[in-house]
Amino acid sequence: MSDNHLPTAELQALDAAHHMHPFTDSAELARKGARIITSAKGVWLTDSDGEVILDAMAGLWCVNIGYGRQELVDVAARQMLQLPFYNTFFQTSTVPAIMLAKRLAELAPGDLNHVFFNGSGSDSNDTNLRMVRHYWAAKGQPERSIVISRWNGYHGSTMGAASLGGMKGMHAQGGLPIPGIVHIDQPDWWSEGGDMTPEDFGLERARQLETKILELGADKVAAFIAEPVQGAGGVIVPPVTYWPEIQRICKQYGILLIADEVITGFGRTGNWFGCQTMGFTPDIMTCAKGITSGYIPLGASIVSDEIFNTLDAADEFAHGYTYAGHPVACAVALENLRLLDEDGIVERAGSEIAPYLKEKWESLTDHPLVGEAKIVGLMGSIALTPNKATRAKFASPTGTVGYYCRERCFANNLVMRHVGDRMIISPPLIITKAEIDILIDRARLSLDETLAYLNAEGLN
Ligand code: PMP
Repeated sequence: MSDNHLPTAELQALDAAHHMHPFTDSAELARKGARIITSAKGVWLTDSDGEVILDAMAGLWCVNIGYGRQELVDVAARQMLQLPFYNTFFQTSTVPAIMLAKRLAELAPGDLNHVFFNGSGSDSNDTNLRMVRHYWAAKGQPERSIVISRWNGYHGSTMGAASLGGMKGMHAQGGLPIPGIVHIDQPDWWSEGGDMTPEDFGLERARQLETKILELGADKVAAFIAEPVQGAGGVIVPPVTYWPEIQRICKQYGILLIADEVITGFGRTGNWFGCQTMGFTPDIMTCAKGITSGYIPLGASIVSDEIFNTLDAADEFAHGYTYAGHPVACAVALENLRLLDEDGIVERAGSEIAPYLKEKWESLTDHPLVGEAKIVGLMGSIALTPNKATRAKFASPTGTVGYYCRERCFANNLVMRHVGDRMIISPPLIITKAEIDILIDRARLSLDETLAYLNAEGLN
């Protein structure tokens, strides 16, 4: 397919004329022209000029199984022929939705045994927001409706999910957050930890939750939502003290704990779910992305027996999406989960690949531009800084150096993202050690080029 498309320049012109890109400065993109990805295999992308690029982001943190798995294609094709669509409203069900719900209940920790299907991560979080309020109303406490989340968390782009998120730039557009959502600070020790030890800082940030609950009144708070490891916020790995304290506080005040596992689910952190790596058990998990390895859209809210039983005894939950439990998406997810399990992909990612990647990734701290290197499983970040000892920020507006470094990576055929002046990775779980070596070589080259640029421009 890659050799019968229009010339790149023509595709770029059409793209600029008609295709509106998410989270993109369209005028800048029109000037540069989009890089057009035409095919992929394993961890490698091919663009319309035939360049081969190492995808260290697994698309958007989602292609956990790697590109080009024929098994997923075959399952989708078979399911489309047999039953391309049927809904799960009005007392009907489908075999793929049933079998996937059963499998997710097996994989999920604790008593998270019940699955509400959605179409994406964002609308899963909208489901969660409505569901926790419905839950408390069903328990006779409708005033328990506030959801607490975190600044610089990311939970999606819909009105509800973007409100739960703590991205101020998103809130500034469209009158967000919606009422009933309040934010506390993130556990980002590198940027905000000052003179505290990471452990003390982790406790301090967790206890902000307790302070906020007491300020609002526990009888007004429905839930706390957070990513086990912040992804879009810059792969912020919390200090080890953080999550146990959050769990304690939620338990003490009877607040539901929602783990947004959209990125951290399905092997990303070396276990099936990020909460297992971070050592806590939520009441609800938000899932998407890796559930199908991104081959087809699907989201899910996986909830505890207690939540299910309460909802079961209440009025019907007046909520649902046309594509909830889409049979093709569920069939693909089931096959994806089978392969992640039976091919040993999640197991190997945790036991073999993650330690190798950690060693290589952390070796980047010997580079003059790199302050801390953080990594958990196969998601990692490095903080770029002009002064490691003081954890200083660059004089240029935040993100200028990160963006430059990202551009060098892309030119060197490595997809690595920047969040502000942090560089982040989240490669497919099937990445090999040899491919990790290439990733690190290209990252180092891009860092060298960034440093040379900063020195030449007198910006460092
Ligand atoms: N939650 C988290 C933690 C995410 O990282 C994302 C997407 N990056 C979302 C929710 C939203 O998912 P989607 O883009 O599928 O709506």
